[in-house]
Amino acid sequence: SKYVADENRYKKMNYRRTGNSGLLLPELSLGLWHNFGENDDFKNARNLLKCAFDNGITHFDLANNYGPPYGSAETTFGKILKKDFSGYRDELIISSKAGYDMWPGPYGNYGSKKYLISSLDQSLKRMKLDYVDIFYHHRPDENTPLEETMGALDLIVRQGKALYIGLSNYRPDRAAEAFTILEDLGTPCLIHQPRYSLFDRWIEDGLLDLLGNSGVGTICFSPLAQGMLTNKYINGLPKDSRAVKDGRYLKTDKVLEMLPKIKALNEIAESRKQNLAQMAISWILKDDRITSVLIGASKTSQILDSLKATENTTFSDEELTKINAVL
Ligand code: NDP
Repeated sequence: SKYVADENRYKKMNYRRTGNSGLLLPELSLGLWHNFGENDDFKNARNLLKCAFDNGITHFDLANNYGPPYGSAETTFGKILKKDFSGYRDELIISSKAGYDMWPGPYGNYGSKKYLISSLDQSLKRMKLDYVDIFYHHRPDENTPLEETMGALDLIVRQGKALYIGLSNYRPDRAAEAFTILEDLGTPCLIHQPRYSLFDRWIEDGLLDLLGNSGVGTICFSPLAQGMLTNKYINGLPKDSRAVKDGRYLKTDKVLEMLPKIKALNEIAESRKQNLAQMAISWILKDDRITSVLIGASKTSQILDSLKATENTTFSDEELTKINAVL
């Protein structure tokens, strides 16, 4: 039967302005890095997207190489878009990226105009889209002139293949230079996508100030440190968890190393009547320079659980002191 989105979806979500732009994003967005590859369960993937959208999550984040294999998350997403979301395209903000390893040879990686233009063309074909809403350069490339990379992003917007452009993983100095070039080209940077969580606070050292002062939005990835900032590892290593099931990016050794901090944070979360996942997300949303928190999920129940974070995004000084003491 045909999917009809929950008619109350927009009452369930808060939307924040992305920097100085006209674009609003949901406080929580869903990323397709994991759980949308060729060997992942298609029905589950479909349910994740429907569950997200039914709850006001209008933004889905992809990249050329999400899978595995590379490209397959975009292919899966394209199929689900066609099946379930064909009537909802104008209610969705869809992003993709290029910047990491994608195809063999010198044109399938980094930051050249050649790579960016051809990669986005491939992404659009896989997703069966005419344009993405946001296209990112996925990471900085020291060996390509910034003018070339930013010029390619500007061209992509002028060609109508993306509405907005973003940068990911750029350090403050390079980001500031890029913003100036983009401004001069007439395609201002919409948003920056850095990693940010209780376990990785690097953006507090300059980047967040830069973004706030530049009117550029901030969407934070791996807010749960890939699942470590939840209560799932407290009583052992579940078989269906990312650390056990996948292990490419999240190692069980790392989880075990962080366990004392995870347990201590979990107690603080409980004292706030939240679980750790919810507190970890709330803690990011407390800063109004943050536009959106970009979560991943392997189950719809996790999306529903994480969404409750938006109900309490204020922290007392005492709570913050306790949290800082653990970290
Ligand atoms: P998270 O830190 O949110 O980790 C998500 C994982 O945590 C889930 O897959 C699930 O893992 C577990 N989880 C999620 N919610 C809960 C919950 N409520 N309770 C218990 N466990 C939960 O984010 P990701 O690392 O997945 O990254 C999110 C997105 O960010 C990506 O999909 C991608 O779009 C983007 N990203 C961007 C990068 C970049 O360079 N720009 C790099 C990395 C990510 P489990 O399998 O254990 O159930």
